[in-house]
Amino acid sequence: MAAIIGSPTRYIQGKGEMKNLCSYADKFGKNLFILTSASGRKRVEPAINEGNKDSNLVYDVFNGECCMTEINRIIKIVEEAGSDVIIGIGGGKIHDTSKAVAYYTKKPVIIVPTIASTDAPCSALSVIYTDEGVFEKYLFLPSSPDMVMVDTDIVCKAPVRLLISGMGDALATYFEARACKRSDASNCVGGKCTLAAMNLAQLCYDTLMENGVQAMIAAKEGICTKAVENVIEANTYLSGIGFESGGLAGAHAIHNGFTAIPETHKMYHGEKVAFGTLVQLVLEDAGEDEIMEVIDFCSEIGLPVTLKGLGIEEVKPEQIMEVARLACAPDDTMGNMPFDVQPEDLYAAIMGADALGRYYTEE
Ligand SMILES: [Zn+2]
Repeated sequence: MAAIIGSPTRYIQGKGEMKNLCSYADKFGKNLFILTSASGRKRVEPAINEGNKDSNLVYDVFNGECCMTEINRIIKIVEEAGSDVIIGIGGGKIHDTSKAVAYYTKKPVIIVPTIASTDAPCSALSVIYTDEGVFEKYLFLPSSPDMVMVDTDIVCKAPVRLLISGMGDALATYFEARACKRSDASNCVGGKCTLAAMNLAQLCYDTLMENGVQAMIAAKEGICTKAVENVIEANTYLSGIGFESGGLAGAHAIHNGFTAIPETHKMYHGEKVAFGTLVQLVLEDAGEDEIMEVIDFCSEIGLPVTLKGLGIEEVKPEQIMEVARLACAPDDTMGNMPFDVQPEDLYAAIMGADALGRYYTEE
């Protein structure tokens, strides 16, 4: 099997870049369709207008769900307006909707994240829900977005919990890629991991260890230091390429299992993935140094290392067993681990990770 790496054609990141959006989009055309939330539009429109020379802009407010009804509604607007390029400005669901609209209308797409809470912006994937918000299907796209543009001034003004959550998602990248490499599993773009993807995953982890704490402290006050910029790149780009072209394994499967517990619903994706990372390390019987480094990092920046931290006040063994069973489902990515994982093994690893987390964080 070939080694394959996927990536956006261009990744742009910097302070105050929003005003350059029209000139970056110019290489695709002058008629721009922009999907945002109502509040997002208020925040970005002045900067976009400031830099606009002669592009025609059509804005539309996102209805809140990435579902086929919404995608079809937007396709109609895009076609009637004769737009040349689709631009999605905001968070995950706006990006996924924009990618899907671009795919169905065969137009280029520019993704503009205003938060750095997950590694989804760079990926060739849209998650489609029903009108009621229940998971419906994955739409695997033939290519990554044409362009991803991040204005770090805007991202660092968002609530800091989002940046921290993004670090939780990025924390898993290296360990999941390493597990896939050990098991010779395929990545998310249907190939083996390249040297480049493995090294980006490693760099992602190193960047968090080096800059994560400082970035959290600065971003809490809305200050965009070099550490914040490095972490935004780690969360968005390094983790994005790293997970898609390195592969997913235990941490994300464990995350998916935890979604079955209602108490965890108020936790963000990356917060659950961070705990999933700790569980994967316990499952692998990773060295103490590595486990301690992850526990220290998580507790320092405010990512959960215990079940209580995930919102589960009362731990019920049968509920944790259900998480373990779901995480070991044959269509999830637990099968990418380099050894056979039975629900009983995973149950023990979840309880073991929780015990370790409590031991080191509760005096
Ligand atoms: Zn993730």
